[in-house]
This record gives sequence, structure tokens and C-alpha cells, in this order.
Amino acid sequence: MSTGHQLRLYNSLGRRLEDFTPSAGVAGLYSCGPTVYSYPHLGNMRPYVFADTLRRALRWKGTAVRHVTNITDVGHAVADSDTGEDKLEVAAARERRSVEEISARYTEAFFADLAALNILPADEYPRATAYVKQMIEFAASLEEKGFTYLLPSGLYFDTSRSPGYGALAMMDVAGQREAARVDYVQGRRNKTDFALWRTEEPGVRRVMRWDSPWGWGAPGWHLECSVMSMGLLGEHFDIHTGGVDHRELHHVNEIAQSEAYLGDGRPWVRFWLHNEFLLMNAEKIAKSAGGGPRLADLTQAGYHPMAYRLFLLGGHYRSQLDFTTQAVDAAQATLRRLLTRIEPLRPLPEALTLRAARALLAAGDVGAGYGAGAGYGAHADKAAAGYVEQLDAAICADLATPKILATLQESLRDPEIGGDGLRVVAAAADALLGLRLSGLDPREADRRRSVRDLAPAQVAVIERLIAGRSRAREERDWPRADQIRAELESLGIQVTDTPAGTAWELR
Ligand SMILES: [Zn+2]
Repeated sequence: MSTGHQLRLYNSLGRRLEDFTPSAGVAGLYSCGPTVYSYPHLGNMRPYVFADTLRRALRWKGTAVRHVTNITDVGHAVADSDTGEDKLEVAAARERRSVEEISARYTEAFFADLAALNILPADEYPRATAYVKQMIEFAASLEEKGFTYLLPSGLYFDTSRSPGYGALAMMDVAGQREAARVDYVQGRRNKTDFALWRTEEPGVRRVMRWDSPWGWGAPGWHLECSVMSMGLLGEHFDIHTGGVDHRELHHVNEIAQSEAYLGDGRPWVRFWLHNEFLLMNAEKIAKSAGGGPRLADLTQAGYHPMAYRLFLLGGHYRSQLDFTTQAVDAAQATLRRLLTRIEPLRPLPEALTLRAARALLAAGDVGAGYGAGAGYGAHADKAAAGYVEQLDAAICADLATPKILATLQESLRDPEIGGDGLRVVAAAADALLGLRLSGLDPREADRRRSVRDLAPAQVAVIERLIAGRSRAREERDWPRADQIRAELESLGIQVTDTPAGTAWELR
């Protein structure tokens, strides 16, 4: 039996689609993780849903993966600069907590969002503060090899010594300078040079500080990812992921220092994958203090986290997505329809691979209690097999999740396919999409329509407005009736007038 379609991924290094095969039995995958100084907003979570899709694609193809996602709890300066204050120290001062409390609090919030979004846990979540000793050794090795120079403000990487610097960004030096932000550092030789170690200014004592050959201070931001990825995945590994905002600076610098450190003339990492931004235009979703809307804001508004995941997967990871209330409403409605349709097919086989899906269909025995006597036969098998191959083609085409969703929906409408075949197709699609189609209750999944979630006082307010509107209508006071309708709509209430009276529901 063939292994199906060849997995092809868009490599930012060279900006082209390439065939992906793991270089060893286990594919090494590193994803740049969060800086834990505030709650993640919805856009912050897109890179992890994307990396999760990649993991599911590899699992589907039968490739074992070792996945590392880092937690940045030191070194990330405000404005991504070399000279600014540390983001965690700023947050600690603002919230009057210790940096440890800040880190613990927001790491926990990040993990909660990962779990809510049904993201497969990484094998390791290393924290930067646990690797400072290794970072110092790494920087000392670069110094020994002559890639650095020392300034009063710290130890700098000399990018002019790095052949091919910035190849990932595909920008000229002027563009690189732009990407390096306007960040004046006295004595810096090239504008693209970056700090490996940030030495304390005289008279200023950092909250997080370590002793080093270059004085007391803290590591530069880029260092941790090189050190922790090599420490946990080996010197060279297969795939590095992150948001597209990392492509022009953070990842360029990771590559420069890592290849200088290794010095073996080989590319450090073979594949660099970047997800596009999420644009925020969700005027109806309350903004959390100091940031964009969070997953918690969505769930409080009655949306299920899987609706947000479905919204993301409805676009390709390399496309910008505009987050609007209408778009997430549509995703919620699609989720509900999918769950309602799939619920009678349960239980579904879990974590299907292409090989397992084909084997189930070939055996014609998908599970107890289904299919027998339901007009299920070789013809239906063939239809299901066709859909499984379509799913394989879609995931192999640079993780085309919109196509996977479309294929799933098509199979659910197809009169030619039998219950057993459909179970395999639905399970295969969900192994790739991770929408919890195998277990989520359709009624639980959409709480927006559930009036029982409203407090009695809220219901009383709504009923009073509805009564006022009915009175205005009886008195033919249309402007007043329209005004009340607008007020109800602003509360998220949909009003429908029927011959039997006025009905309302939560939108
Ligand atoms: Zn990183």
C-alpha cells in the first residue's frame, strides 16, 4: 500500500514548496513560544493552532515527532530591542508582583488556552530562566570563535561575520536594518548586530540577573531558542515554526548565531514555517484590559473554543485572517452543524493515521453496531476511500485545512456513503483538524442560544424591553419600537415578530 501523497510544506527559507521527509526516525520540531508577561490574546494563539496542525499532519503520515515549545520568562525586552527593559520586569512592577509570580500566572493562562483549543501537548516546554548557564556557554563559544565584540552594554554578535546573514528574511541590508528596529546602541558596528548578553548598566540592578564573563546581566532574547532547541532536539533538526513577525528578525538572528556556533557549513534547520497574522476587527467582543480579546472573552460570550479553532482552520495558515463577530458566528454555526450531523455516528476511532483509516475501510469493519444492514456495501466503501484520499491530498498540500473542512462537509452530504465509511472519514478529518468532533456535545458547544445561562435579572430586563416594544407597536409609535429593537440588538438579542407574538433569542 502506498504512503499516499507526498507531504509538501512551504519553506520560508527560499520561499517555496518543498517535499518534506524527516531526516531521522523522529522529526524534531521547535515552536517559538510565548513571552509570559500578560494574557495571550486570540491572535497570539494562532501560531500554536498552526503548529498543532503540522503535528497532526505528521502523525497522519505516520511520522513520529518530538516537539519543543519554549516559554520566554527572561530576556525579551520591550519593543524587541536590545536595550529596553525586560517585559517580565515591567509587568511585575505594574502588577506589584514578583517576576516569578508573573511568569507562573501567565504560563498557566497560556497552558489553559492550549488545552481549551485542543492543542496536543509538546514533549517539552523549557523555560529560558532554566537555561541561562547553557546560554552563557553558548555565547562564550561564539566569543572564542571570534563572532562577537564587547561593549559596556553587553556582548554583541557581529552580523558582518555571518555569511548569508538574513537569507531567511530575503531582504537587503537596508531592509534588515529596518527590521532591526530603531534601536540606537552606542558603539554597535552594524545596525543588525544584536546582544547575546545584556550587561547591567552601572548603578542599575536588574531584577533578574546572572553573573557572566561579561558582568552581571541577562541573556539577549534570541539566544534562548538556539540553546534550548539544540539542547532538546540535537544540533540540527527538521522544522522550526513561528509567527511571520519572527521571520525578519528573531529567526534571522537565531540562524546567524546557531550556524556560527555549529560552524559545519550545513543549514542549521531544514524547514522554517511561518503563520500569518490574525487581524482584529471584532468590535462586538469586549476587549480585555490592556490587550486584544482573549479566548476567555469569547467563551464568556457563549462561543466554544472549538468555534475559534474552526474559524482559524477555515483559512490557510499562510493567509491573513480578519477576526470579526460575523466570522466567528459563522464558525460557531458550522461547528454546531458538524457536531449535530456526526453525533449519531459515534463512537469514532481516535487519532487516525492514513494507514489506519485505509485499513479500517479495507476490513469493512469499522466498529460494533454500525453499518450492518444499513445498505452499507462495497460501493459505499469506495466513496469513503475516495474522501480519505482527498483528505490526504489536502493535508499534504501545505496543510490545506479549508479543503479538509470542505471535504468533510461534502462527505456528510453524500448519499452514496454509508454509516461505517462516514465514521472513518469524519474521524480522519478530525484527526487532522482537532475539532473534538468525536466527543463534543452539540448543545454544549453553542451556549449563545442558551437562555438558561442568563441571570433572572437579565431576563427580566429583556422581557421589560420586549413588553415596552410591543406597547409601542400597539400605539404605532414606530420610532420608539425601532429604538427598543436597537437597544435589544446591542444586548445581543434577536427579536422576531410572529403572528403568535414577539419571540426573542440570544444571537
Ligand atoms: Zn524563538
